[in-house]
Amino acid sequence: MSAMIIDGNATAEKIRNQLAEEIIELKAKGCFPRLEVVLVGEDPASKSYVGMKQKDCEKIGILGQTTYLPEETSEDELLALVEKFNNDDTVHGILVQLPLPKQISEEKVIAKISPDKDVDGFHPINTGKMVAGEDCFLPCTPAGMQELLKEYNIDPKGKHVVVVGRSNIVGKPFAIMMMQKKPWANATVTVCHTGSGDLKPYTTQADILVAAAGRPSVIGADMLKPGVVVIDVGVNRVDDPEAKRGYRLVGDVDFEAAKEVASAITPVPGGVGPMTRALLLKNTVKSAKKFHKLI
Ligand code: NAP
Repeated sequence: MSAMIIDGNATAEKIRNQLAEEIIELKAKGCFPRLEVVLVGEDPASKSYVGMKQKDCEKIGILGQTTYLPEETSEDELLALVEKFNNDDTVHGILVQLPLPKQISEEKVIAKISPDKDVDGFHPINTGKMVAGEDCFLPCTPAGMQELLKEYNIDPKGKHVVVVGRSNIVGKPFAIMMMQKKPWANATVTVCHTGSGDLKPYTTQADILVAAAGRPSVIGADMLKPGVVVIDVGVNRVDDPEAKRGYRLVGDVDFEAAKEVASAITPVPGGVGPMTRALLLKNTVKSAKKFHKLI
């Protein structure tokens, strides 16, 4: 039997609609959620990401502004802009699009963002709170993955979650979130990486398998336990002469074969990707509500 498809587009749309309704109520109380996005340089993928974030904000009623800075912007100039937004009480969320040009330290910029406005959830204070299980801004991609599990009533409690990938933005935070003694978590977690050797002995044990390696077809159907839930985070370009742009996007999992073994699976595109953007909006609204003491 073919797996249930976990629809990230539909779930993200539902979250946006809920937020849009909530924002109408917040505005009536004098709370106008505002997100400042900063892009340094001309990277086409980054430009497209910030454009989508801007549109998302406009659609649901968040005041979204993007500052475009030239490639040669100095670290001090960027830090000064972040400081300006930190001190502006009308700004609730600050997002500096990564990667940054080589003359700017990403660590310094992330550390400069006020933890109270760190809607990307990358500030070390928010990371520390996440590890401790305290309330914080969770990074958008793993938080979006957890929302998908909730939406499809897939409770990780007591399950074995195997995460392939240990980056600071996906694998590591998701593993930490899943091991918390909290609702929609409380799982036993295994994390695999390039030091793990053969992945199959681990992946075949997974009740929930997260693929976040950024390598096409790193997970084949023979590496899955029948009935597993597969969350495919990978976004990889593969050459496709028949596609309009000469390539298509695929995940880390061999989707066609895996969907015959799994009980549920996220597609690429249309799975985790849309959720990342939706969770950025959710974090921004949360920040605005906190500032106005509405939560
Ligand atoms: P990353 O920083 O490159 O990390 C990849 C991780 O996977 C590393 O921990 C690496 O291990 C591990 N890995 C790579 N190849 C492996 C292999 N053959 N076997 C086992 N482990 C392997 O990547 P990332 O930023 O986490 O992103 C991962 C993927 O998710 C990418 O395709 C990215 O485009 C996608 N992504 C999607 C979204 C979204 O919203 N949909 C958001 C973020 C990322 P080592 O640590 O040992 O090097």
